[in-house]
Amino acid sequence: YQAKRDRTGVEVYESKRDSNTPDRLGLLGDLRRALDAHEVDLHYQPKVRFDGQVAGLEALVRWVHPERGKVPPDEFIAIAESSGLMPHLTEYVLETALGQVAKWRAQGLHVPVAVNVSPRDVHTPGFAGAVAARLARHGVPAGALQLEITEHVLLEDPQRAADTLAGLTGYGVKMSLDDFGTGYSSLVHLRRLPVSELKIDRSFVARLAVDTEDAEIVRCTVDLAHSLGLLVVAEGVEDDETWERLRDLGCDAVQGWLVAAAMPPEETTAWLRARGSRGWQRPAAALPAAT
Ligand code: C2E
Ligand code: MG
Ligand code: MG
Ligand code: MG
Repeated sequence: YQAKRDRTGVEVYESKRDSNTPDRLGLLGDLRRALDAHEVDLHYQPKVRFDGQVAGLEALVRWVHPERGKVPPDEFIAIAESSGLMPHLTEYVLETALGQVAKWRAQGLHVPVAVNVSPRDVHTPGFAGAVAARLARHGVPAGALQLEITEHVLLEDPQRAADTLAGLTGYGVKMSLDDFGTGYSSLVHLRRLPVSELKIDRSFVARLAVDTEDAEIVRCTVDLAHSLGLLVVAEGVEDDETWERLRDLGCDAVQGWLVAAAMPPEETTAWLRARGSRGWQRPAAALPAAT
């Protein structure tokens, strides 16, 4: 294991990326079996606008390994990516998410769901058509699905990636650019990708209230995104002060533990129902005292 420090100075342990250690092979085999046995679940995290309206939910994959316990998605997704299992994982996630969307719609809960897709998926021939077929099979309109991509999709064969994304948006699927600020964040990328939403990476949001440079980066990103007609979502919002700063900077929506962590489906249903048409309200304790 290798220790790395993230921007907040917290140590993060990462499995070494070298490919064929027995540990990785073991985990890969286990993941394959877990998918077949439906032991991988999706949790859902709300994206809310500043008026409290629920803009959508992000599906986040969860795997509890029978012996190792919770395996962080970042870890097994890297393994799936480098082993060729990614298309299978993505099919599984899309299938599960669309099944859930259909269920919610049948209960009168019309909330769009975002699914994370990897660069590998975008480069899989026929991906756009396969997504459209899956939507049709579940009777879910394309507008109820959003796909979160990262700038990494443009690293290899940008033309093919652009064609696939154009195909998807042609069907009416909305695209969101995830983790903005961590990759190349080039204006060329933004112009090339047919996205309607940009998500500011958590690493800039985390210290927004105390770090003036991060605040400036967020301000510029919001302005840039708006000038391109994109919606801006901030991820990783954990406290009130950050929420207020983001609102003042003109950000459109937030996602983070302040609102809710990713929840299992039943809990998400209860959460959505409890919000009703009033939307999400900040806890009263956090609001200025009424006099
Ligand atoms: P992401 O798409 O950027 O997802 C946001 C991550 O931030 C999630 O981590 C979420 O649980 C976490 N998060 C949300 N709010 C907060 C907060 O307030 N504070 C903090 N500290 N963290 C927060 P998670 O679920 O561990 O997922 C990590 C990454 O794994 C995701 O980053 C995404 O890139 C990937 N991932 C997750 N599910 C899938 C999937 O189904 N398919 C693919 N291809 N990738 C996935
Ligand atoms: Mg995401
Ligand atoms: Mg993200
Ligand atoms: Mg991320």
